[in-house]
Amino acid sequence: MNLFRIRGIQLAVHASFFLLLAFAAQEGWQEDRWPGLALETGMLIAFFTCVVLHELGHSFTAMRFGIGVRRILLMPIGGMAEMDDIPRQPSRELLITLAGPAVNFVIAATLWLVLCYVSYPDDADSNYSWPAFTTELVIWNIRMGIFNLLPAFPMDGGRILRALLATRMRYLRATFWAATIGKVIAVLGALFAIFMLSNWLLVLLFAFIFYAGEMEYRSVQRRELEDAHWRAVLARAYAASMPPSAEEPPVLSR
Ligand SMILES: [Zn+2]
Repeated sequence: MNLFRIRGIQLAVHASFFLLLAFAAQEGWQEDRWPGLALETGMLIAFFTCVVLHELGHSFTAMRFGIGVRRILLMPIGGMAEMDDIPRQPSRELLITLAGPAVNFVIAATLWLVLCYVSYPDDADSNYSWPAFTTELVIWNIRMGIFNLLPAFPMDGGRILRALLATRMRYLRATFWAATIGKVIAVLGALFAIFMLSNWLLVLLFAFIFYAGEMEYRSVQRRELEDAHWRAVLARAYAASMPPSAEEPPVLSR
């Protein structure tokens, strides 16, 4: 479902997000009827607003480098900014990637300052007070920032790892190693989420990381193959002093 556009970027919500919203509402209702419902859904919406700001951090930095961002998709496991291209210059990928978690730490620091310097008239001990709500949001932003920095490609930390590896080896090889390390972390994380936390949403997130890492590695591999193909076509055309033919590049077999 499309919501609205921010500087040309379409903000969209996946249908399954409403399941999460319904789940939070039901949890709140069981805890404390209407006030509980309002608190839980309000918290979830505030949390996902921070997710959007995180994605906007990536997006605006990418746009500074002239990369188009089509949309930001919100899912129960988080957000995703869909960029036209991911720059191959490690320094640019590093900056675009770091901008996301940086937003979370800035939000956390700002809210923490507000907590320190703004006096609240209502009861600070209550679950429904602004200090309790704000503290929760500070904690969530710190968690979001740190969690995203886990070197689990294609999450932010994994992209940082790929960018660092790419300064020392070929881009495809760097992607392979980042994706492989990401998969190991995804498997360990999923096991931890199952046996220690019984958190199924987290299990789903790690399964997604495993799958998305493989998909992105394959897309980089396909792109390398296509680039090599066009280079060869151009070299042949140049050698024969003929315009290049428009034959299709080879398709990567699965
Ligand atoms: Zn991010």
